[in-house]
Amino acid sequence: AMFDSLSSSIQKAQRLIGKSGTLTKENMKDPLKEVRRALLEADVSLPVVRRFIKKVEERALGTKVLDGVTPDTQFIKTVSNELIDLMGGGVGAKDLEPGFPQIILMAGLQGVGKTTAAGKLALYLKKSKKSCLLVATDVYRPAAIDQLVKLGAAIDVPVFEMGTQVDPVEIAKKGVEEGRRLGVDAVIIDTAGRLQVDEDMMGELRSMKAALRPSDTLLVVDAMTGQEAANLVKAFNDQVDISGAILTKMDGDSRGGAALSVREVSGKPIKFVGVGEKMEALEPFYPERMASRILGMGDVLTLYERAESAIKEEDAKRTVERMMEEKFDFNDFMAQWKTMNNMGGLQMLKMMPGFNKISEKQLYEAEKTFEMYEAVIKAMEEEERSDPELLVKSMARRRRVAQASGRSEADVAKLMGAYTAMKSQMGGMSKLLKLQKAGADPS
Ligand code: GDP
Repeated sequence: AMFDSLSSSIQKAQRLIGKSGTLTKENMKDPLKEVRRALLEADVSLPVVRRFIKKVEERALGTKVLDGVTPDTQFIKTVSNELIDLMGGGVGAKDLEPGFPQIILMAGLQGVGKTTAAGKLALYLKKSKKSCLLVATDVYRPAAIDQLVKLGAAIDVPVFEMGTQVDPVEIAKKGVEEGRRLGVDAVIIDTAGRLQVDEDMMGELRSMKAALRPSDTLLVVDAMTGQEAANLVKAFNDQVDISGAILTKMDGDSRGGAALSVREVSGKPIKFVGVGEKMEALEPFYPERMASRILGMGDVLTLYERAESAIKEEDAKRTVERMMEEKFDFNDFMAQWKTMNNMGGLQMLKMMPGFNKISEKQLYEAEKTFEMYEAVIKAMEEEERSDPELLVKSMARRRRVAQASGRSEADVAKLMGAYTAMKSQMGGMSKLLKLQKAGADPS
């Protein structure tokens, strides 16, 4: 199956590292070569592989090996972190953008599974209690319209079509109007595909985008085409500014390179993956899950989790120490924020009974806020990150940070407010801890 050979190569690399000593440039050389070879074999593009290997090496050498963690585990953890990063982790699962209704434009070449993906997406949304309308605009292939009508009937989702004699952009506009009239939550527009990238197709997509202002423009690509899929995402993105990709045929015997390259090559996230011909065979794309699939399950994952919990303990210890010293800067803020608003955690929560009241909108907003905080903090100078007072005191600094991060001054103010609130909470806790340490009764 996909990733089998990549998994076994990474496990082989882990064995090469062994369980004693520490990670060094020398003892990582052969294991990294093994990973590099495996990634190239999985059809990940060369520049992406190069950057990946370099990052793993730097990160592995730069991280202190934690107590009780063997170097091979540390190595796997680093590979895992970098895999997640490569696939776009860190800012939460890439869900669909909100909209009222959501307007989702489906683009892609012929035969990649675009029409199937439109149907799958409708069923996926329907299962999360969202009503949909499918719109058929492929006037060049009557068979494509029939196909969508049949799919719609099979999943009990209405399909809007106007035959083949009307301009596709006009059909799409009427389709959205119809969606509004019906009061659906989402309108999914299937567009015409071509055998290859051509100006007509791009022009039509651009006109549709301009006319509809879709919440999402998803490019459907075939995972079987490996790194070519990633290049395609880049080409479409350059020309029509897509919001993400759907990678189809992930159930096939593709080597998986597309899943690893899309984000790095195009800067756009994979939002869903198609894993079969059935209408149910669509899954949201979670970099963390994909990484653990690539690493292989069982032993490796257990070791990895053990390493993780060790690191979490270390983090917690550090936070407590910082609290006792009453130091609390933007670095700590970010670490805390990440823990409290763990996006994976929020997503998990949503799947639990009783907690499904957390709406897509709330999740989306939490993610956006998180992204904003991260962008603003990244734009700070190191001295500002470790001494927030500098920003508290200087409007000029705040303004500069806003500009450098591409965010508004109101955003920076929002972060400052959140920082101050968290700091005062920390201050309270620190006093309690000190009292306890001194043996006093905190009440
Ligand atoms: P379009 O021309 O891009 O609209 O492609 P279609 O939606 O007609 O799909 C082309 C073929 O790929 C059909 O036979 C689909 O059943 C098949 N297909 C689509 N998605 C998947 C997938 O995720 N896995 C597999 N195995 N087959 C798929």
